[in-house]
Amino acid sequence: MKAEVEALVDELKRLRKAGVTRVSVSEAAIQSLKKFSKVASVDANTRAAVLDSIPDRVRSASVKDFDKVLLETKSETKKAAAKQTYGAKLPRPPRILLPNGDKRERWAFLRDKVLNCPTCNQRVKPGKKVVFGVGNLDAEIFFCGEAPGADEEIQGEPFVGKAGQLLDKMIAAMGLKREEVYIGNIMNWRPEMPTPTGNRPPTVEEMNFCLPYLKAQLEVVKPKLIVALGATAAKGLLGANSFRSLRELKGQWQSFEGVPVMPTYHPSYLLRNDTKRDKRSAWEDWLKVMDKAGLPISEKQQGYFL
Ligand code: URA
Repeated sequence: MKAEVEALVDELKRLRKAGVTRVSVSEAAIQSLKKFSKVASVDANTRAAVLDSIPDRVRSASVKDFDKVLLETKSETKKAAAKQTYGAKLPRPPRILLPNGDKRERWAFLRDKVLNCPTCNQRVKPGKKVVFGVGNLDAEIFFCGEAPGADEEIQGEPFVGKAGQLLDKMIAAMGLKREEVYIGNIMNWRPEMPTPTGNRPPTVEEMNFCLPYLKAQLEVVKPKLIVALGATAAKGLLGANSFRSLRELKGQWQSFEGVPVMPTYHPSYLLRNDTKRDKRSAWEDWLKVMDKAGLPISEKQQGYFL
């Protein structure tokens, strides 16, 4: 518990630095802190640090002694942080006007625009990268993921971590190579977290901000179809209002700006749910994709994961 209190202190300090002046605390959190303060004595430094780290308005409003300090449970702290820092207003989504020229020139222009996008760069941790799509500009299949993860923000390329390795295997199972398709994400940056590890799905506002960049990539590549990898990608493409759950849409053709979209499982989901049933269910979507793309389908491919 002491380690947790210390983590809380760090988090409160971080929040205050980020300009947060108020944190709300559940009754349950107060009770559990009360219990803690009775059963374990907090050393004077920790106690002082906690008090010192409480935002001023909260302190003056209600902090008389430590038992009554308004603190949050870990998850409440995270939620507050998400609201304050990640809810920080994004500017309007950019308007992208692609220049005349061939695909390569237009793509290079767009890539440069994204990599130098001030909003994207402000949200990337120091030393990490904004991530832009990669692949064949004449690809018929455009894979659309959610957002870069830890490996991607280091390498500056989508799907290069564990999920990416599985994606590559699935692409190979179709009889294609990674270089023959196009791979992009709804988001250009890894959604920030208050913790050094872990991922969170992007907010609707974040996705809406990045969407013009994705649309412009589609405008350049002009794929025959899009594969939406996971619920967030499907939600980003099909609209948060019309999207309910991946279960309802998975395996059924949808449309984005006139381009057919196949919503299917995210490779990370398949890594977590490594069952023949889930793999077959995903593979059936991929067979539909192959069929629509006019790729040959062998008997062996028909029967994968049966
Ligand atoms: N997950 C995604 O959705 N995109 C990536 O680039 C990596 C992991």
